Amino acid sequence: MLSRRKLIKRLSTVPLLGGLVGGFSVPAEAGTVAAPKRDLFKEFGVRTFINAAGTLTYMTGSLMHDEVLEAINYASKEFCLLDELQDKVGEKIAKMVHSEAAVVTSGAFSGMTLGLAGILTGTDQKKVEALPHLEGTGMKSEVICQKGHDIVYNHALTNTGCKMVMVETVEDVEKAINEKTALMHFLHIQSDKGKIMHEEWVALGKKHNIPTSIDIAADVPPTENLWKFNDMGFSFVVVSGGKAMRGPQSAGLLMGKKDIIAAARMHMPPRGFNIGRGMKVNKEEILGMYVALEKFITQDYTKLWKSWEDGVAHVENTVKTINGVKTEVRVNPLGNHTPSLRISWDPAVVKVTGKQVQEALRNGDPSIEVGGGGPSSIGVTVWMMKPGQEKIVAKRIKEELSKAV
Ligand SMILES: *Cc1c(COP(=O)(O)O)cnc(C)c1O
Repeated sequence: MLSRRKLIKRLSTVPLLGGLVGGFSVPAEAGTVAAPKRDLFKEFGVRTFINAAGTLTYMTGSLMHDEVLEAINYASKEFCLLDELQDKVGEKIAKMVHSEAAVVTSGAFSGMTLGLAGILTGTDQKKVEALPHLEGTGMKSEVICQKGHDIVYNHALTNTGCKMVMVETVEDVEKAINEKTALMHFLHIQSDKGKIMHEEWVALGKKHNIPTSIDIAADVPPTENLWKFNDMGFSFVVVSGGKAMRGPQSAGLLMGKKDIIAAARMHMPPRGFNIGRGMKVNKEEILGMYVALEKFITQDYTKLWKSWEDGVAHVENTVKTINGVKTEVRVNPLGNHTPSLRISWDPAVVKVTGKQVQEALRNGDPSIEVGGGGPSSIGVTVWMMKPGQEKIVAKRIKEELSKAV
């Protein structure tokens, strides 16, 4: 005969019998005990971890606020017209960020593609269908960008069929502008790597009647960046929803001039025959994004910042007592604006590399991901942690470094 323990073990692997209690079979939903939640990560053997690294796409970005999840669940239970929802939510968002119009996109990247697509085609359906083939259509085909701003994300712009034209100085810009110039694009996070700053970029665009755009994907906080560049006069602005705002990872905002947003939407679902059909957001992302934005704007930012500082200080104070270890707190003024801790050590005293510490933390229990394993350093941020996780992280880093002394 099977022992009771073995029987229970067997039954637990048979989902249909999940409601069998004390010999009586009861429907799972009728019981007072909630059915155990499925642990899907575990089912797939996918490692989960404490994120001490930051808002990184390959680590799945950020954790959505409870309010965002509530909005997503709420939205999932009713039908509505996609365009009506985008119209009404967009109008409200535009007011919040000081733009003429706004639309929820599937991220900052698609916002760039859609914004430029709108500029190229206007609301001409024939042109919309032609993209990304610009030749012989009469559409413009060049985007000007500063060399120092030329990073991987410019692919969002070349997706439209446009080519990038690189410049360094104001003279370069004036020489580069011609009848094919569609847009002058600016990348905020790299603004210190270029010679021309925001206001001058916008002024140059206005002088030559060329639209200007700016990518601020990872550049809130500070909160006011949400409207600063709209106020400054950029024709369109894109930001990620799933980074510091902790909205859906597959959402972002395209904000800007009314005619550009209206034209950009010609390239978006529910419409097909365009390059943006695959950049779909549904009611869940739209309302989730809206609630994330609302929360981000109305939150007590001072309190949030203080909690980040306290968390970083806790890690710092825990590890800096180790012989040979040095710490430094830095705040990147441009993107990823949060206190970030660099822990470095004298390799003659602490005999381990940054990569080895990173690996040991990854393989520990709980698994922890920290940033930038240098030859003898690692990086830590706390803004993507759940409350209290900074204590676990501090303790684990201390253990690993102390072992190597
Ligand atoms: C993250 C990021 C993007 C892409 O944003 P998504 O919202 O993931 O589409 C674009 N530009 C910069 C500078 C970024 O950091």
